[in-house]
Order: sequence, then structure tokens, then C-alpha cells
Amino acid sequence: MRRKAPLIVGAGPAGCLAAIALCRGGAEPRLLDRDEKVGDALCGGFLSWRTAQSLRGAGVEPEALGAHPVESLALIAGDFEATAALPSSGFGLSRRALDSALRRRAVGEGARLIVDRVRSVQPDIVEGEEDDYAAEAIFLASGKHDVRGQARPREGDDPALGLRIRIPAHDALHALLSGRIELHLFRGGYAGIVLQEDGSANVCLALRKSLLAGASGQPPALLDRLAATYPAFGERMAFAPPGLTFDTVGSVPYGFIAETTDPGLYRIGDQAAVIPSLAGEGMGIAMDSGNAAARAWLAGRSAPWFQADFAVRAERPVRVAQLIWRIAEAEAGARLLTAATRAVPSLARAAMALTRI
Ligand SMILES: Cc1cc2nc3c(=O)[nH]c(=O)nc-3n(C[C@H](O)[C@H](O)[C@H](O)COP(=O)(O)OP(=O)(O)OC[C@H]3O[C@@H](n4cnc5c(N)ncnc54)[C@H](O)[C@@H]3O)c2cc1C
Repeated sequence: MRRKAPLIVGAGPAGCLAAIALCRGGAEPRLLDRDEKVGDALCGGFLSWRTAQSLRGAGVEPEALGAHPVESLALIAGDFEATAALPSSGFGLSRRALDSALRRRAVGEGARLIVDRVRSVQPDIVEGEEDDYAAEAIFLASGKHDVRGQARPREGDDPALGLRIRIPAHDALHALLSGRIELHLFRGGYAGIVLQEDGSANVCLALRKSLLAGASGQPPALLDRLAATYPAFGERMAFAPPGLTFDTVGSVPYGFIAETTDPGLYRIGDQAAVIPSLAGEGMGIAMDSGNAAARAWLAGRSAPWFQADFAVRAERPVRVAQLIWRIAEAEAGARLLTAATRAVPSLARAAMALTRI
């Protein structure tokens, strides 16, 4: 006999997919999130074909949300540019649209949504600001944000940070970006640019913290500097009106994989594995892990069993993406990747396949 309905901390892609799978298995999960209104989480907003497949399995059609179809990847390093067709269609979609649809679906399947900010998580007990929650099974899906008691180790001296702006819809920008996801490779990071459901362009950067420090810690100054140094990026940024708001997230632990966990605590999404974001598979991993953890719990598998099993599955995509990220953030490496993609596009497709869960 289960003691308490399972509790999911975080209603992002991982938490919602876990909730949906638990409901379909006959459980009545509680789904806890700090935000009553779904925000626009910092993310590149690119849904890979595999992520789209998971979404459809959960009953959410990207096309029905107006997602922008993406057929090709463009790699841009200085004057070098190469494109490669994606193995199958991907999409550009804002996180607000995606997370809202997933939440609606989870609640529609029977999950109980509770709004509370979690302060700490221990096996069996979650401490929130409003209440404490006992549960035999806790699914930790707080994503980019660590909670007390379960923090992930941080990367060395110069970690990656995330930065995002959204450029309003513009016909000429649409013509440049239509049907593709662009990765602009810089020394020390990259920017991903993709059109979203409303025609706006999501510009999301992952950069070494030292680059921001070199721009006096000011994101607008950093973007101006990158736009001046990299002409193709500058061309896109010319469509950004002044005064846009920036979203930032500090110290992303790329490469983290949870191999163990406490009994009863299933770590999912970014709390289970963090793939370097230029692979465009973070949401795919989040959804897959949420689904797999729910199925493991329904089948009576322990949390440490699930964590060890998922760690093995996440290993290849995360390590391959880490290698690509390391090569891409060096100027010569970025040119090499771009030239190799131009000469042999199937190499890029192989890399895309190897970085899927
Ligand atoms: C720069 C950058 C670009 C990226 N681009 C892409 C991309 O293009 N494609 C892709 O597939 N992936 C991308 N990713 C990765 C992707 O964003 C993550 O892997 C994915 O969002 C993880 O999903 P999640 O459900 O684990 O966590 P999240 O999406 O972070 O969701 C966590 C949820 O938990 C809630 N929460 C957090 N803390 C608490 C708390 N204390 N109490 C209660 N609730 C809480 C939040 O409100 C949120 O709803 C990118 C990541 C970065 C850093």
C-alpha cells in the first residue's frame, strides 16, 4: 500500500511528463511548482525531432501550438557557414507555450497542481514555503534551480551561464531564419537562434562567465561586443530594438549526471543529467527521464535503480555533446566543425543522432 501520492517538485518538461505517465499508470500525483503563472523559462526553445516525439506521446502536438517547423541546422563561425538537414523535422516553440500546454495536459490527466516554492528536499519530506509534504516517492524536477539538500556539484572556475532575449517578429528576420536553427559559434560559447510560434526570434546564449566579466558584467554590453565581432550575429541583432529585457541563469553544470540518489528520490530532467545546450536535447532528456522514472516507480523499481539505469542511458549523449561544446568554444575548433559540416553534412547528422537520448 502506497503511503502518500507521489510528489513531483517542478512542473517543467520533466515534471509534467512524469505526472502524465503516473496518472496514466493509475497514480494521483501532486505536481508542485513555485510559479502559479507559467513563465518563459530561459531556454533555446528548439524541440528536436525526438523531443517532438515524446511530446506527441504525452498528447501534445507541437503543430497545434503553432510551433515553427525547423528542417535544417546552420553552423556559423565567423565567415564560415554550413548547413545540414536535420534527420527529421524539429520545431521552435516558446517555453511559455510549451510549459503551459504540458501543465494543462498533466492536470487534465488527473495531477493535482499545488503552487508553493520548495525550500529543501530530503527523502520522504519536502519543505515548502507554504507547507511541508510527505511522500513515499519524490520526483525532483526543479531543473536549472537547485533546492537545499540536493544541490548539484558546480563546474570549475569559469562555468557556463545562460542569457536570453527575444527579438520581436520582423519580415526580414523571418526570411533569414525561416526553417532553420542557427548556432553562432563564438570563442567561449555560442548563440542559438530560432523562430517561435508568434514569429519572434528566441536568441539564447551559453557563454563562459569570464566573457560577461570582460563586459563589466553587463549583458547588453556583451551582446554589443559579440554583434560587433561576429558579422552574421550582428546582422540578426540589428533587429533587436533597444531596451529588451534579458533573462539570465548562472553556472549551468554541463556534463552533470546523477549516478546515485537517496531511496525514494527520483531525480529527473536537469536534476538527473545536464547535456550541453548546443545539442538541443535538454528537453528531450527531461521528458524521457520523467517518463522513465514514473514507469520505474509504477513497476516497483527503487529510485537508486532508476538513477543508475538512466545514468547509463544519458552517458553517451551528454559526453558527445560535451566534446562538441569544448571543440566549438575554441575559435579554430568552431571553424573546423563548420568546415567539416560543409564538406560532409552527414557528419553533422551523425553528431545530431549521437547526442539524442
Ligand atoms: C542556454 C540554454 C539553452 C538551452 N536551449 C535548449 C534548446 O534549445 N532545446 C532543448 O531541448 N533544451 C535546451 N536547454 C536545456 C533545457 O532548457 C533544460 O534541459 C530543460 O528545461 C530541463 O527541464 P526540467 O523540467 O528538468 O527543468 P526546467 O525546465 O528548469 O523546469 C523546472 C521547473 O521547476 C520549477 N521550480 C524550480 N525551482 C523550484 C522550487 N524551489 N520550488 C518549486 N518549483 C520550482 C520551475 O518553476 C520550473 O517550472 C537549454 C539550456 C540552456 C541553459
